[in-house]
Amino acid sequence: MNLPTDFVTYTKPLLGEQWKSFVEALDGESPTSIRINHSKMTSGKLSNQVSWCDNGFYLDKRPQFTFDPLFHAGGYYVQEASSMFIARVLKQYASPSMKVLDLCAAPGGKSTLIADFLDEHSLLVSNEVIRSRANILSENITKWGNPNTIVTNNDPSRIGKLKGFFDIVLVDAPCSGEGMFRKDEGAVAEWSLENVRLCKERQQRILADVWPALRSGGVLIYSTCTYNLEENEQNVRWICDELGADILSVDIDEEWEISSSLIEGVTAYRFFPHKMNGEGFFCAVLRKKGDEENGVRKIKDKDNRSKINLETEYKNLILNSDRFTFYPRNDKWFAFPSCLYNYLQTIKSELNILSEGICLGEFKGKDFVPEQSLALSNFLNREAFVTLEVDWKTAISYLRKEALVFTDQPKGYILLTYRNIPLGFVKNIGNRANNLYPQEWRIRSSNVPDQVENII
Ligand code: SAM
Repeated sequence: MNLPTDFVTYTKPLLGEQWKSFVEALDGESPTSIRINHSKMTSGKLSNQVSWCDNGFYLDKRPQFTFDPLFHAGGYYVQEASSMFIARVLKQYASPSMKVLDLCAAPGGKSTLIADFLDEHSLLVSNEVIRSRANILSENITKWGNPNTIVTNNDPSRIGKLKGFFDIVLVDAPCSGEGMFRKDEGAVAEWSLENVRLCKERQQRILADVWPALRSGGVLIYSTCTYNLEENEQNVRWICDELGADILSVDIDEEWEISSSLIEGVTAYRFFPHKMNGEGFFCAVLRKKGDEENGVRKIKDKDNRSKINLETEYKNLILNSDRFTFYPRNDKWFAFPSCLYNYLQTIKSELNILSEGICLGEFKGKDFVPEQSLALSNFLNREAFVTLEVDWKTAISYLRKEALVFTDQPKGYILLTYRNIPLGFVKNIGNRANNLYPQEWRIRSSNVPDQVENII
């Protein structure tokens, strides 16, 4: 790999005698890893586990994920192994009934990981400032199927207005991307010392802007996918000194070959491709100083039963419906966990929400047209629908939003499943079935293989 001269001059002394093996690793293959959504499926035949993440597995080769229906159904997420370290942090620092913010969340790798750690009384606000990326984030969160999530599209300074609201804030900061050199040639081309400086300044702005939203005593997880000290250890020091925080440690196993901080007095976790099976990554965990209760916005956690009486049959669309509040927004009906409904109102009053809870569907004439968010929800009541298991070819046709024909099936809405995992709805009208798969999610590639090997 042709590394920028300034990068070599800067990084070589940091790595010392490890430099040679580091450069060799950059010329090697990137490992492929996925994280299983255990609310939808099991890890089956996968056995090569990512040490710090129970649900993470390496694959022997990189398959064509686009043509695996389970990928589209939210059965798993393709995620770089090092960044799954957030699971180890949450295992140690997450507790029940938390409010978690993932500030720089698109496309959603870490948000879907966080969602797995939330109990039903916890809330995840998953934010992305760039609108087009926020749409992709919303799609991935919807596919993952957890109802206690809200996707927002705001600048960090706006989120900072939610004073003391969150118990955990993850800032997976936009960075100079040195850790992605092996995967992304663009990251090499864009790299410069000047860009490192700009990234550091931007990271500090983002951190300062969002800081008021973290409660005193709350936990900040700060991560980047870059190696330099400016964007990593030096920023961690800056957070301690300027914002007021103590550094926390994470329990790790020596065998995992995670490297420690490169600056004395700063505890952090570094991932180098020549030492472990993954890309470059940096993570530090900090606790906000101050009185536990100071600045915490008090919101009564009362159980809000359904405000509006949705006909009983529509309530039957989801499991445990008595634990949800049902309400309309822009013609569509939503269900949101009742114990978190007040928090949703607070978020609504301050932020721009793209998606929330479960979007059930909308009334059109006599029909209630079910939404994709319902099909992919982990709380979908399958018994409310006629269900049809389809083969791989039909599943791919459905995901390409092609016209389908199910003449031997009853008329009306049918939930299609593939390997027993819901894919979405069709409306069968007899001589054909209207494909309700979201237009913007469809598989665009026309190079469909004749068949694919099951990954799991
Ligand atoms: N956490 C994501 C995941 O695991 O899938 C990856 C996040 S990526 C490293 C950083 C994100 O920060 C990008 O989605 C980028 O659009 C966003 N970003 C860029 N500028 C930002 C800013 N000024 N404030 C907040 N986020 C920003």
